[in-house]
Amino acid sequence: MHLSNSYASLGEQFYETIKPTPVRDPRLFLWNSSLADQLVIPKDLQNDPAALARIFSGNRLLPGSQPIATAYAGHQFGNFVPQLGDGRAHLLGDVADRNGKPWDIQLKGSGPTSFSRGGDGRCALGPALREYIMSEAMHYLGVPTTRALCVVTTGETVFREQPLPGAVITRVASGHVRIGTFQYFAARGNKKALEALFDYTLKRHYPSLSTADNPYTALLQQCMDMQIRLIVHWMRVGFIHGVMNTDNTSLAGETIDYGPCAMLGIYDPATVYSSIDVAGRYAFGNQPAMAQWNLTRFAQCLLPLVHDDPKRAADQIRPVLATFAQRFEQAYMAMIGHKLGLHLVRPEDQDLITSLLHLLEDKRLDYTITFQLLTRAVTDRTAAADLEKDLGPWMARWKKRLARESPAPEKIQALMQRNNPVVIPRNHHVEKVIKECTQLGRADPAQSFLQVLASPYREQQGTSRYQDPPADNDRNYHTFCGT
Ligand code: AMP
Ligand code: MG
Ligand code: MG
Repeated sequence: MHLSNSYASLGEQFYETIKPTPVRDPRLFLWNSSLADQLVIPKDLQNDPAALARIFSGNRLLPGSQPIATAYAGHQFGNFVPQLGDGRAHLLGDVADRNGKPWDIQLKGSGPTSFSRGGDGRCALGPALREYIMSEAMHYLGVPTTRALCVVTTGETVFREQPLPGAVITRVASGHVRIGTFQYFAARGNKKALEALFDYTLKRHYPSLSTADNPYTALLQQCMDMQIRLIVHWMRVGFIHGVMNTDNTSLAGETIDYGPCAMLGIYDPATVYSSIDVAGRYAFGNQPAMAQWNLTRFAQCLLPLVHDDPKRAADQIRPVLATFAQRFEQAYMAMIGHKLGLHLVRPEDQDLITSLLHLLEDKRLDYTITFQLLTRAVTDRTAAADLEKDLGPWMARWKKRLARESPAPEKIQALMQRNNPVVIPRNHHVEKVIKECTQLGRADPAQSFLQVLASPYREQQGTSRYQDPPADNDRNYHTFCGT
């Protein structure tokens, strides 16, 4: 297995060159063999857990790896922090997959860097498992996301109010350029570095835009479309990111940073689980507006590249930003339409859709379960009757609308089945599995869970174990960042 590091070629102002801090007793805890196969990690290495543990704890460096901690800035809960960066992560380099696409390989929990701000650079096993489970679940739900290659325990203790087992998680991503990376150089007035970062982003992620009339506005438009696509997926499956700061917004359009995320149970746009998000800035229903806010921050970074005259630059950027609301609305409505079996949403369907969402909220219905029942109700009278007591006359309206769709009921149902998961990583199950793994010192509870989460649109043996909503409706559930 050989790595290169394309990001390192950008030069020293983009990162700190720093090696992971070796750990005492690395042991492979979880290994993602299907991702490893995709990355063409040799089978003989995959069959050597001790070697994998050494490599993916940072104790042994692979040929070609050039560990760096990247620099970035970011708006955290609306406040600009000019200096952030990988405080406990090492980008080892990138590796080409079966199709030649490069993927960043990054260790997290691998020791302090100059960006640690007093942190220990480490990660506890619980949060490492959480990122592994959530990011893999999102991948199989069809949501763009960074992925998890493995979790290695370190044999060391980390202290987070209490002693906890330490771990290193290996994150695999299309790239690690964030809005905050652009902000880092924009805040320093470093136009040359901005230009280099822009070229890197274009070349790595959107090479076709290099021939656009205006590559800067083209990149902004493209990144907007990627964010819209991402957030619409989040809204489809009920994902609450929890910390949509600009340093956690990947320009590759992937979900990144699984610290305080959670899943929606009862449909309520005001749902927040992050313990530090007291104002509900990143509530479920606020995510589209926050993505728009973040994109505006990105657009500001591009201004000096677009034109030397700030006014003329703004004149070019503003019309692009102004398309967000309409583009989002269209993508969002199409998505909910698919969840309801409508291949094509017409303007007159808007009321049908918003009425349902209001009903879900008023009756405090579970988002996933309700759409599951609706999916079954297309062909199953019992499921339809089940729903009628809560949804009442809305059901008749929906049925009438479906009757006007030309495809056969089976086709309508198939569309719904592709868009409505039967199982999601429910918060109480995620917590239970993490607790069991930590207590047992073994990964089997996570493996059983992940096996079900790998087919979220299909009922299979074991699925029912993970479908129940939480007994207390997650009333006292809280998530945490940076644990
Ligand atoms: P996050 O909220 O996860 O995006 O983290 C914000 C910043 O804090 C990032 O730059 C992290 O690298 C850094 N960070 C989080 N936890 C630690 C830790 N235990 N040690 C050092 N840096 C950390
Ligand atoms: Mg982060
Ligand atoms: Mg985090």
